[in-house]
Amino acid sequence: MYDYDLVVIGGGSGGLACSKEAASYGKRVAVMDYVKPSPQGTQWGLGGTCVNVGCIPKKLMHHAGLVGEVMKYDAREYGWQMPENPELTHNWELMISNIQDYIKALNFGYKMTLHDASVKYHNNLATFVDAHTISCVDKKGKETQITAERFVVAVGSRPTPLDCEGGELAISSDDIFSLEKAPGKTCCIGGGYVSLECAGFLSALVMDVGIYSRSELLRGFDRECCDKLEERFLKDGVTIKKGVVPIKISKTEDARLAVSFSDGSSDVFDTVLAAIGRTADTASLALEKAGVNMLPANRGKIECVAEQTNVENIYAIGDVVYGVPELTPVAVSAGRLLSARLYDESSPQMDYERVATAVYTPLEYGCVGLSEEAATTKYANVEVYHRVFVPLEHSMVVGRNETSECFSKIVVDADTGLVAGIHYLGPNAGDIIQGWALCVKKGVTYREVIETVGVHPTCAEEIVNTTVSKSSGKDVSAAGC
Ligand SMILES: Cc1cc2nc3c(=O)[nH]c(=O)nc-3n(C[C@H](O)[C@H](O)[C@H](O)COP(=O)(O)OP(=O)(O)OC[C@H]3O[C@@H](n4cnc5c(N)ncnc54)[C@H](O)[C@@H]3O)c2cc1C
Repeated sequence: MYDYDLVVIGGGSGGLACSKEAASYGKRVAVMDYVKPSPQGTQWGLGGTCVNVGCIPKKLMHHAGLVGEVMKYDAREYGWQMPENPELTHNWELMISNIQDYIKALNFGYKMTLHDASVKYHNNLATFVDAHTISCVDKKGKETQITAERFVVAVGSRPTPLDCEGGELAISSDDIFSLEKAPGKTCCIGGGYVSLECAGFLSALVMDVGIYSRSELLRGFDRECCDKLEERFLKDGVTIKKGVVPIKISKTEDARLAVSFSDGSSDVFDTVLAAIGRTADTASLALEKAGVNMLPANRGKIECVAEQTNVENIYAIGDVVYGVPELTPVAVSAGRLLSARLYDESSPQMDYERVATAVYTPLEYGCVGLSEEAATTKYANVEVYHRVFVPLEHSMVVGRNETSECFSKIVVDADTGLVAGIHYLGPNAGDIIQGWALCVKKGVTYREVIETVGVHPTCAEEIVNTTVSKSSGKDVSAAGC
């Protein structure tokens, strides 16, 4: 009766996982993926935000910054013969070219895996005609219609544009990872993780960077950790201004960008990067023709119950869904589990609670569960254990060994002893917090954490050694080995 059993709109993290899982049940499945160019004209291939303009290029550029730090601080102390007072320079064009080549290989790989999984890929922009029909427009403007028994909306989100005068002169995260020339002095607007991560790698790549945020940095994360992260930015020479928004951006005679801020201050930059949030990519989807309710006041997101919209045969996963963490593994798991459930009723539902995450700033931050503030609101009695440490690798490096920036913190519901949250600032934060995500999700107690025998000598063992309670007021600095 229909062309397909399932059509997934959006070939990003969630859409690809969902479509391949559905096809593994022998269903006739198609994916529509079409990238609308950014206002600056940037475009990319199959795979969505994560691979093209998100996690992957971001982590690679963060790593480029870490490599620079090792050369600057550590190499000589570890016996590498470095020239006296080396003036480290970085070749942005070479880095971009290598990263983009790698991404193109991934784009190609995704097409191959869809083909191998018997999922039909259409490089088309999809728009709903009714609840079982979409209009599909290809790059040349040719329109066809496709019908399906079920649809999954996995269109993700795009950077929210700046609405101040001259806002169109700003680039966004959609552009930075393929920028042909180094951005130079950069004004990062926004206090969320995208703004901070971009500011972090640009600063590590020896650029003059400022962060300008309407509110506090990393709203919703643990305040004490964010304060330490901010201190590190300041130590690296990054300007941070909170409580300001840009009110005007204009071109100067020498083709730079003059930015005036709401506090009356102004400065001139080579690049303005707007990272003030993301808006669901639903505006041109004509969801109303299919009867799907979206939430214009909530950045165009779709409200779902167990990934199902208000229309029986239309589902949504990933960043487009209201109230779920905007993370790649969340979109992937939700997509996979949804398909499994549609074609095998015994499959479980996605659990969005206690998902771990990492922020790839120069001082990395990994966490799972509640911040100290959120735990204090939720539980009657909260105890916090904390520890400051110097990673072994930094301990003989001048410029690295005298700081107290690396930090671990365990937030505990004191009445039950259950761990409410674990926070870590230091090297390899994402890798370290991953294992703790399982423990916190399964309801680990604080006693079980500290009874776990550490792996020595690592930064990860600092968590099992986090034994000083805040209420004791004792010294939190870790002793040596
Ligand atoms: C700079 C940055 C860094 C990030 N870093 C991390 C990180 O370190 N870790 C992490 O877990 N997450 C990270 N994220 C978030 C992560 O990228 C997203 O959560 C994830 O990509 C969401 O997947 P999705 O499937 O919902 O949507 P997307 O991956 O955005 O895919 C949606 C796809 O649908 C297409 N599309 C839209 N409309 C249509 C239409 N009408 N017809 C056809 N196709 C359409 C889009 O072009 C896109 O290809 C980062 C995001 C950004 C911006």
